[in-house]
Amino acid sequence: MVIVTKFGGTSVANGRNLEKVIDIILSNPARRVNVMSAPGKRYSQDTKVTDMLIQMGQETVRGLGQPEYMEDIYRRFIDITDHFEIESSFLVGLFESLDEAKNNVLSDREEYLDGIKPYGEIIISEIIAGVLRKRGVDAQVYRPEDIGMRTDGNFGNAKLKETSYEEIAASLNPALEGSNRVIIVPGFYGIDEHGRYMTFQRGGSDLSGAILANALDADLYENWTDSNGIKRAHPDVVENPETIERLTYREARELAYLGAEILHPDTLKPLIDKNIPLSVRNTFDPDQNGTYITATKEANGYVVEGIAHNDRITAMYVEKTGMDEIVGYIERLSSIFTEHGVSINQFTAAVDSISLTFAEGYNEQIESINDRMVREGLVDNINGIRVEYDRSVVCVVGEGMSHTPGILGRLSTALASEGINIETVSQASEISIIFGLKTIDAKNAVKVLHNLYFPKSNM
Ligand code: ASP
Repeated sequence: MVIVTKFGGTSVANGRNLEKVIDIILSNPARRVNVMSAPGKRYSQDTKVTDMLIQMGQETVRGLGQPEYMEDIYRRFIDITDHFEIESSFLVGLFESLDEAKNNVLSDREEYLDGIKPYGEIIISEIIAGVLRKRGVDAQVYRPEDIGMRTDGNFGNAKLKETSYEEIAASLNPALEGSNRVIIVPGFYGIDEHGRYMTFQRGGSDLSGAILANALDADLYENWTDSNGIKRAHPDVVENPETIERLTYREARELAYLGAEILHPDTLKPLIDKNIPLSVRNTFDPDQNGTYITATKEANGYVVEGIAHNDRITAMYVEKTGMDEIVGYIERLSSIFTEHGVSINQFTAAVDSISLTFAEGYNEQIESINDRMVREGLVDNINGIRVEYDRSVVCVVGEGMSHTPGILGRLSTALASEGINIETVSQASEISIIFGLKTIDAKNAVKVLHNLYFPKSNM
């Protein structure tokens, strides 16, 4: 039996937290492959090591690379080696490499930052392996570059090359089969064809773990975080939401995609391909079962499992008379968005109009997208495009919705009775309904919908 684990930033933030990580790894001999994030926040005002590294790189580009940045980062790690009273001389070599990457300023900003960003993961992995070895465990770090985790795509948004799975299996399986070795892998990055570091999106260590689980045909992927699993709604909006005990992959993807925050949405794909269960657990409360995610689950009486929301959304409304008669209209529209690097997350179509939503922050791209649409005749004129900022999407998810009539009516009546105006609705799959609305209404909408299905836990 092989379990792949991934420990998030809070779990590895300091020595005290890391003791829990070490206990978890050692309490089950099947936990053979363990992926690490970089140290995250130790308290709410703290800065994540990844953010410290990014800031250091950005300031260096601006000619302001003060030595204090490096010293602050060094302190984060030396505090941990001190806590465990392990030899820290290996940090010198690692910090020399980091310094070299920092001084190697490149014209491509993302490429340059990707040379620096993975060091939080790399250094903490070496420390954890050192602590395990001190406890007599045969522990070793295997970096993504050592095991063939190859990527292409863009710096800061790497995509795994499909051939990597075989290469990873070929490099790690001998170590797994011939020994009791505990393998530690720094998450968050792979290497491109030239051997350059390429990071996944932020939060990408989740994906690193899922890739390893797939490549090694793991029996289980455990994602250890600082919450008792995935909650029915965001705890900042709903007081003390319940943990969802069981989810299907489909439900988890819908919830993660729209901001359940616990999981990077791309995590599930490699697991689905090999039917590997995912368990989301709490490092600080390991007796809790957390959330267990599989392809199917027994009906449990719940119609709705959870409500996710995402506030940083821009909505666009497009009008074109006779849109329905233009062959391939939606493909052409969406390819313009793709060319501009903007991914659409919700589509609603009527005869002569379409509304779509995407993440905020693409102001420059929006202008050029609008120009292209006018030039290609996808709108009658520029007045046919309306862009609305400060929008949110709220997504109600549950397999049980697929065989329960009247859900949409129930949800929209509840929202209307609170005076919340729904701007768009889409239901592309039977297991989710997505509402588009103004951000000022979003929190209230989540509360109302949560209260509708889980009245007790909101009291
Ligand atoms: N350390 C990276 C981040 O802060 C990756 C991760 O934690 O998954 O985004």
